[in-house]
Amino acid sequence: TEVVATKEISEEELEPILEELVLSLAESDVAFEVAEEIAQKLRGKLVGSKVPRFKNLRDHVVKALEESILEVLSRSYKPIDLLGEASRRQPENPLRIVFFGVNGVGKTTTIAKFAYMLRSHGITPVIAAADTYRAGAQEQLRKHAERLGAPFIGGRYGADPAAVVYDAVEYARARGYRVVLIDTAGRLHTDRDLMEELRKITRVAKPDYRVLIVDSLTGNDAVEQAKFFDKAVGIDFIVLTKVDADVKGGTALSVAAVTGKPILFMGVGQRYEDLEPFEPRRFVERILS
Ligand code: GDP
Repeated sequence: TEVVATKEISEEELEPILEELVLSLAESDVAFEVAEEIAQKLRGKLVGSKVPRFKNLRDHVVKALEESILEVLSRSYKPIDLLGEASRRQPENPLRIVFFGVNGVGKTTTIAKFAYMLRSHGITPVIAAADTYRAGAQEQLRKHAERLGAPFIGGRYGADPAAVVYDAVEYARARGYRVVLIDTAGRLHTDRDLMEELRKITRVAKPDYRVLIVDSLTGNDAVEQAKFFDKAVGIDFIVLTKVDADVKGGTALSVAAVTGKPILFMGVGQRYEDLEPFEPRRFVERILS
């Protein structure tokens, strides 16, 4: 038998390495609470465990950290087949996808990207603008819908957002559309009102998917946003936007850790084609570089 010289990892030698790695995670835009939580898990896993005597301890810890990050990023990852689901739908029961997120994260653009993806596969969605307090969002979505050849349902300024959703679903039913994409409000200064509004929309829409849009450039703020929307309506999956402009990658890890929900797609540019399946491994590298 082969004798491998091993030694146990002590807390004293592990601690400075973990401290350094927590700081480097924070520099990559990982929320501090998330970085600490991951360090805590590593501590539990590594202290007292055996490593080959001559192996560099830091390399060993970094490897374990990589595995933890990948685990969090792919934990509840389950690819969905939107096109398949949409094409199997009976028109009287259209697939409803509701998009949530703070203004400016790229919600309108992402909805247009989903519409484009569906259109490219011969499925025309109805696009509904249920943010009736933001004239700009209505107008922008209407333009996208026109450009993409999709029917658009909006509402007058200040109209009941839930009524817009109801109309859109009825429209789809009446005319045989299999998918309804729904935009919602994302003003955050009036938390309580917004929460009520989004809950009402959700009750009326009975969504198949509640999608949270997160801007990868927002770092720590994204954690608060994710908590807010998950508490308000519950989230099924996340789309991370502006990944093309983000060198740090930490926002992905933070929102995945805080919500426990999978990131399924990422926006990688401003064009309709710039929507891709999320790739956890690419983010592990980015976060640790
Ligand atoms: P909304 O307020 O959440 O509806 O945000 P918009 O959809 O209007 O997007 C805000 C800005 O972000 C626009 O200039 C978009 O072109 C830009 N944007 C959205 N998604 C992406 C993306 O994946 N990459 C880049 N670089 N820009 C994006």
